[in-house]
Amino acid sequence: MSVRVRFAPSPTGFLHIGGARTALFNWLYAKHTGGTFVLRIEDTDTARNTQEAVEIILSGMRWLGLDWDEGPTSGDGKASSKGSYGPYFQSQRSDLYKKRVRELIDKGAAYEHEGAIKFRMQREPIVIPDLVVGDVRRELTDREQLDPDFVIFRSDGQPVFHFVNVVDDLEMKITHVIRGEDHLTNTAKHLALFKAFGVEPPKYAHIPLILNPDGTKMSKRDRGASLREYIEALCLPEAVVNYLFLLGWSPKGDREIVPLDEVIKLFDLPQILRHNARFDVDKLHWINSEYVRLMSQERFNDYSVRALERAGISIRSFDPSYVNAAFSTGKEKVKQFLDVDVLRTKNEKKHIATTKVFSDFYFLPQVEVDAELSKELNGTNKRIMQAEREALARLTTFNADAVDAATKKVAADLGVKIGLVVHPTRVACTGRTVGPSLYHLMEVLGRQRVLERIDRFIAQCV
Ligand code: GLU
Repeated sequence: MSVRVRFAPSPTGFLHIGGARTALFNWLYAKHTGGTFVLRIEDTDTARNTQEAVEIILSGMRWLGLDWDEGPTSGDGKASSKGSYGPYFQSQRSDLYKKRVRELIDKGAAYEHEGAIKFRMQREPIVIPDLVVGDVRRELTDREQLDPDFVIFRSDGQPVFHFVNVVDDLEMKITHVIRGEDHLTNTAKHLALFKAFGVEPPKYAHIPLILNPDGTKMSKRDRGASLREYIEALCLPEAVVNYLFLLGWSPKGDREIVPLDEVIKLFDLPQILRHNARFDVDKLHWINSEYVRLMSQERFNDYSVRALERAGISIRSFDPSYVNAAFSTGKEKVKQFLDVDVLRTKNEKKHIATTKVFSDFYFLPQVEVDAELSKELNGTNKRIMQAEREALARLTTFNADAVDAATKKVAADLGVKIGLVVHPTRVACTGRTVGPSLYHLMEVLGRQRVLERIDRFIAQCV
């Protein structure tokens, strides 16, 4: 029997990182088994659902690259063009729910009560066989002892979550329900409903939650809770996917950066870890920086442009070859495109290796040296900076090697340590003490900009 899994989010206006991971695990399992991945929007609670809330889920899924395989328009259910179907919307399936509730009433498994329809819940304890957490025995609570029956259709004619969730899993022939552990408490009800329909239930795999670093439950407002934060932070989607599959699953041998096609080969439900995962910003930061290193120069440039635009810097008036040369000097060192909360680690020094730090100075008419730094540089020897300026002005070819040789010669001629030339020259050119390799960035800036900046620096700081 071919595997059929689904991701069944309710549109709340927000795609939780735990939800994104649930979607990913379902998708991975479908890919691993050659099965089908269904996206079903559980939007029966009309008061909360808006088109915008649905769009947040769909765009989040697309951003992560989690294409779904079928939908109401697909006819034969086969995916010919990925992600172009559906998804299913529960709000469009009300006839089905009415038919199914009638079936339960006819069987004597449901009955009318004060205008609502209630399900006749079994009185015996239920054992939930779970592929991740093992067998879970659910006893009736004290309240349920008195009346375990529960409403499946409200008096206003709206079906209730437990009911539509089960009817759809049954209708869609879902073979495995992979979802957050917070749903484990609902599963006894769901198993009872399947039994009442006389249908074999799917297999369940409840995945442990993602907690805050301090072990508390993640709420909407916690850092990293919403997928939107990662998208806006210009995190790389493949890095977020890699980060997410490590939250609760692990390939053997301590590997952390794993290509997705390999994850698809290795992924299986029994290896999902049983303990709760913790949000770990250092790991996210590191994984993101690894993928930045791996990405193509072209794509890196594209992200860099977006990052600079967010900082109010436009590259439009610059020559494309200058832009490419500028970004190339940061390719191996930039760790993240934006300096944002979701990626801010405890261990960061004063300057995080962002696009801005590594490239804004290429595109600014002049650079500002911050007051603190300029105080620090106050002892810089004017004679040294003037000698460096003159040496650079005299070069016949202005490239990294020539600048390197000239700078060394200035230091040797004056009998000073090279750092006394290099350090203020970097600050003069970039406004900072960190950045790309100095001689390379000077080559890219070109002689005219470099000399202007050194002049301004001498006038202001020395
Ligand atoms: N709509 C439910 C949720 O968003 C889905 C639960 C399930 O996956 O069965 O939590």
